Amino acid sequence: MKILVLNAGSSSQKSSLYDLTAPLPQDPPKPMWTAQLDWGRQPGLVDLKVQGAAGVQRWQLQTSPSEGTQIMLQTIWQGEQAVLPDASAIDGVGHRVVHGGQDYSQSVRVTKAVKEAIARLIPLAPAHNPANLKGITAIEEILGTDLPQVAVFDTAFHRQMPAAAATYPIPYALTQQGMKRYGFHGISHRYCAQRAAQLLERPLDSLRLITCHLGNGASLAAIAQGHSVDTTMGFTPLEGLMMGSRSGSVDPGLLIHLLRQGDYGVDDLDRLLNRESGLLGVSGVSSDMRDVLAAIATGNEQAQLALDVYIHRLRYYVGAMLMSLGGLDGLVFTAGIGERSPEVRAAVCESLGFLGVRLDGDRNQESPADALISTPDSAVPVLVIQTQEDWAIAQECWHLLEHS
Ligand code: ADP
Repeated sequence: MKILVLNAGSSSQKSSLYDLTAPLPQDPPKPMWTAQLDWGRQPGLVDLKVQGAAGVQRWQLQTSPSEGTQIMLQTIWQGEQAVLPDASAIDGVGHRVVHGGQDYSQSVRVTKAVKEAIARLIPLAPAHNPANLKGITAIEEILGTDLPQVAVFDTAFHRQMPAAAATYPIPYALTQQGMKRYGFHGISHRYCAQRAAQLLERPLDSLRLITCHLGNGASLAAIAQGHSVDTTMGFTPLEGLMMGSRSGSVDPGLLIHLLRQGDYGVDDLDRLLNRESGLLGVSGVSSDMRDVLAAIATGNEQAQLALDVYIHRLRYYVGAMLMSLGGLDGLVFTAGIGERSPEVRAAVCESLGFLGVRLDGDRNQESPADALISTPDSAVPVLVIQTQEDWAIAQECWHLLEHS
């Protein structure tokens, strides 16, 4: 079965094509074709990178994101990168959809009602749900409405969170209107939990895990018996950890203060907290951890403070997840910073030393993919896992289409 995966962000569209046959492999297979479209750099210009039959190729195109998506998809069956004879060889399309609200705790076949639900939830995920919906309609336009499409929600994994973790201490009428903690990065957290169980050779339902997804956006999940029981993101992907340009949690009183002072309107606050804060806001250097680390190496004290706050908050929330679990059988690091920053992993594990967590310094420095980085006598195994959201989406899509 040929499954196309679309993973749309606010300024990029990543895509992969998998050729799957039963039984599905344990290790993530290499996709037949991958592509990435970026349009954030300059209005009217899109960057396209494709890896298909002819290796890696890059283009810079003067076009719109939607036309760029069409050009990107056509390379699957046209030109030198083509890996399929024609578009009809694609059996199904899986989409990452960021917000599934209260309705969706599982992946679903896309229908008119599902599209309406994704649209209805746009106010809760304004940067992502519109892009996800555009991806779905683009496929309908390019490949036809008969091709099965599947929505895989980032919120779904956290839908079973206990009410105590999912409810804000605000008037209950607001909770009933949907103002509760949803959590995000669920596709990644679930994939990492399953992969950790495989790597540890233990059944997932016997494990208490903390998964640390540390990318530009960042969140932790406390996972017991394969279910998310707590997470750091909430009603929106702004709560919790300090991130690249997002503040994470701040005293809500601060926002009331800024609004009351009159210098900030709602849109200003949105920009301040989502795009001007986090590593970028504190360091004044960049939202990219590599730049912050490079600035620290040249003696930049503000960059050092940004890293210190980042680590402080990461430790703080690992502590919170630990208490939600009441014990720990595995600590997992994933996404850009989690997979590639030995400094950040070492700093978290250092504060868990009193529990007997011990890192193997050399293994940690190597940043191995899908491997242990703790010593054999560590009280809790620590792992680096390369998150494979596209592969997780492809599997969800395969299971739904196989059984429909
Ligand atoms: P996204 O959330 O956009 O998918 P990624 O998972 O790619 O992001 O993570 C991006 C983050 O990973 C950036 O802050 C980047 O600096 C960081 N990163 C990538 N490589 C390294 C590295 N070698 N050391 C430290 N941080 C890194």
